[in-house]
Amino acid sequence: MDNYSYYERLGIDRDVYDHCEFILENLKERFEKIDLMAEKNTLKVLDAFRREHVQEACLMGSTGYGYNDIGRETLERVYADIFHAQDALVRAQITCGTHALALALMSNLRPGDNMVSVSGRPYDTLSEVIGIRKSQGSLAEYGVSYREVELKKDGGFDYEGIGKAIQDDTKLIAIQRSKGYSDRRSLSVEQIGECISYIKSIRKDIIVMVDNCYGEFVEDIEPTDVGADMAVGSLIKNPGGGLAPVGGYIAGSSRCVENAARRLTSPGLGKEVGASLGILKDFYQGLFLAPEVTAKALKGAIFAANIYEGLGFDVLPDSKEPRYDIIQAVTFHRADALIAFCEAIQASSPVDSFVTPSPSPMPGYDSDIIMAAGNFVSGSSIELSADGPLKEPYSVYFQGGLTWGHAKFGIMNTLQRLVTDKIIDRDMLKMIR
Ligand SMILES: *Cc1c(COP(=O)(O)O)cnc(C)c1O
Repeated sequence: MDNYSYYERLGIDRDVYDHCEFILENLKERFEKIDLMAEKNTLKVLDAFRREHVQEACLMGSTGYGYNDIGRETLERVYADIFHAQDALVRAQITCGTHALALALMSNLRPGDNMVSVSGRPYDTLSEVIGIRKSQGSLAEYGVSYREVELKKDGGFDYEGIGKAIQDDTKLIAIQRSKGYSDRRSLSVEQIGECISYIKSIRKDIIVMVDNCYGEFVEDIEPTDVGADMAVGSLIKNPGGGLAPVGGYIAGSSRCVENAARRLTSPGLGKEVGASLGILKDFYQGLFLAPEVTAKALKGAIFAANIYEGLGFDVLPDSKEPRYDIIQAVTFHRADALIAFCEAIQASSPVDSFVTPSPSPMPGYDSDIIMAAGNFVSGSSIELSADGPLKEPYSVYFQGGLTWGHAKFGIMNTLQRLVTDKIIDRDMLKMIR
């Protein structure tokens, strides 16, 4: 059977298929570079596994208090190795990325301290953690003050603003690597490193925390390689490799990680407790696969950017620029297109493909969100997924894909849907070719 007939069976028109193949022709070199990055990061991960003597006993897990959990302790050393950090906390008891970030903040800040975000407004769910939106239990309630410095128009750090925002009471600075649900650019690790140098030149003891969500393994260095005191993220994004069923991590300095451990469990107990149950095999195996999985997700994002930019939509990042995370935004300026895109991603999923996603309120977000995710792990966004707030400019944020075949089909199917719905003119596809 020729290649197209496989796609035809899944409802893809010849025009749509040909268009996508035409786009892919021009991406070969780009994809080779991504494969090379995956190779480098695979070796980095493998090196850590070997050095820390990961062994069969590490995959078993513990129950109860979880004392002497060799698997958990080794995994945390593996993470510390990969991040070139002194220590790491990698736990199933960290429920998600927001929890990991809240934990890093709440454990390292004390009443009277000030924190500054220097990459503009943090990810939506952190508004309630910090108390930007009034919330029970927020840092604001505990007497931690907050200041914010916007990124400059060109996407770079506003050094003058940062210099002014840092006061005597400033204890911690937060930097978000990925753009999240905003229309800025994501930050490179190099850019983050320059900013950290500047911050540390003002005062060495300021703690710099980087929200590393969606950034892991996109580059061959991580924020902790350029001076971050903590890199924080979710295991149901990049570093879980699609296999971790839950969890979060904090990699960084011994002191910061110990503070986090004492807050997660209890002073006096710290990292010593926390049963890993039966979860460690998936943590290890997912981490081992993560560089490759991240590469697949990146290819999907670039493929989508090239398709939609070519059709006249605003895409961020654009089709050519370097990537610092796996998120792709496409702006439609119309609700029906955003909804159709998400429905097509859902319909392309291995699980719940027959379900229609509908916009609804989400805890931590201030407008209705439509979310498409037919996932093996609920809410996992390293799996092919798309979401977007139902408000102007009606941008879809799209990410993930555990395999290239799936990412490719999912994106092709979104184009199919937009053509079928006449949001995109079929003749335009032919014209472009
Ligand atoms: C996903 C994400 C978070 C929050 O993670 P959850 O697991 O959804 O709680 C925080 N920051 C950024 C940049 C993210 O992408």
